[in-house]
Amino acid sequence: MKALVYHGPGQKAWEEKPKPAILKSTDAVVKVFKTTICGTDLHILKGDTPEVTPGRILGHEGVGIVEETGSGVTAFKKGDHVLISCITSCGKCEYCKKGMYSHCEDGGWILGHLIDGTQAEYVRIPHADNSLYRIPEGSDEEALVMLSDILPTGFECGVLNGQVKPGDTVVIVGSGPIGLAALLTVQFYSPAEIIMIDLDDNRLDVARRFGATQTINSAHTDPIAKVMSLTGKKGADTVIEAVGTPATFELCESLVAPGGRIANIGVHGKSVVLHLETLWSQNITITTRLVDTVTTPMLLKTVQSKKLDPQRLITHRFKLSDIVRAYDTFQHADREKALKVILTNE
Ligand SMILES: [Zn+2]
Ligand SMILES: [Zn+2]
Repeated sequence: MKALVYHGPGQKAWEEKPKPAILKSTDAVVKVFKTTICGTDLHILKGDTPEVTPGRILGHEGVGIVEETGSGVTAFKKGDHVLISCITSCGKCEYCKKGMYSHCEDGGWILGHLIDGTQAEYVRIPHADNSLYRIPEGSDEEALVMLSDILPTGFECGVLNGQVKPGDTVVIVGSGPIGLAALLTVQFYSPAEIIMIDLDDNRLDVARRFGATQTINSAHTDPIAKVMSLTGKKGADTVIEAVGTPATFELCESLVAPGGRIANIGVHGKSVVLHLETLWSQNITITTRLVDTVTTPMLLKTVQSKKLDPQRLITHRFKLSDIVRAYDTFQHADREKALKVILTNE
C-alpha cells in the first residue's frame, strides 16, 4: 500500500509500505476512505515531537471501512463504515474508566505518533471496539472526519473545560481550525458574546460567518483594550486559548474576568509567565486537557440532527495520492485561505 511516511525533520514521502496486519486480537484493520492533515502533523515535521521516529506513517484522523478484525473485536465487522478517533483507548484501565481516554494505559494519542497512522491506504487500529465509532447510514462521511480530532478537541478542552453558560462572554484566542471548532461548539450553550482574536483577516471573516459576534485583528488593534471596552472593563467569563504560544496564553491572563476561566487548548512547547501577582485574588480557574474524545458519540448526534455542520471547516480537497501537494497547501494556510483539507483514497 501507499502511505505518507515521516523521514525526520522537514522530510516526508508518499511511498510504498507493507499493508498493516492484525497484531492483537483486539485490533482492526481499516481501509481509509478519507483523512486530513492536522497542525500537529506540521509540528511533527518541524521536529517538535522527537518521539516520532523516521519511518512512521503520519495522520490521526479519518473515516474508513473495516477490512479485517481480530478475534476479540465484537462491536465491528468487515464492511462497517467507521469514524477513527485520534485517541486510542482500551476502555478498561483506570483512566479509561474515568473517561480520560487520552491517558489510557495502553493507548492515548498513539496514531501517527507512536504507531503508524491514517495518512495511508490502510491503518491498524488497536482496541478497535473502543477506538472506532460506527457511522450512521446516510451520513456525510467527509464532514465526520472533523470529529476524529478537532471538534472534540475544541469542545472538550475549550468549551466544556471553560464551563460556558448561557449569557456568558467568551473570548477565543486563535481562529484556526481548532479555535473555529470551539466557536462552532460553544454555541450549544448560547453565550451572549463570542469574541474571536487572530492575526489573519480571512480567518476572522470565517469566524464571523461561523457565529462570532465580534472579531479583533490583534495585528492592528490592541486586543486587551478592545475586549475591556466591549465588556464594561470586566473581561470575559471564559477565555479559550487555541494557539499555544507564551504570548497568546499571557493575553488570555489579561482578558479573563474575575471569577472567569482560562481553558487552554494550545499545544505549548515553551514555558509561559503566570501573572499570579495580579491573578491570585481574581477567583479564576485555569484548565488544561488533552482531548479524550469521550464526547464523540454526542457530537455525532448533533451532526446527524444538523445542529452542527462540520463540513464548513473543509476548504480544500485532494486525492490521497496527492497528499504532498495537500501538505503544501495546508502549510501555507494564510496564502491558500486553507482551514481543513480532505484527502480521499480513491
Ligand atoms: Zn490533530
Ligand atoms: Zn485504557
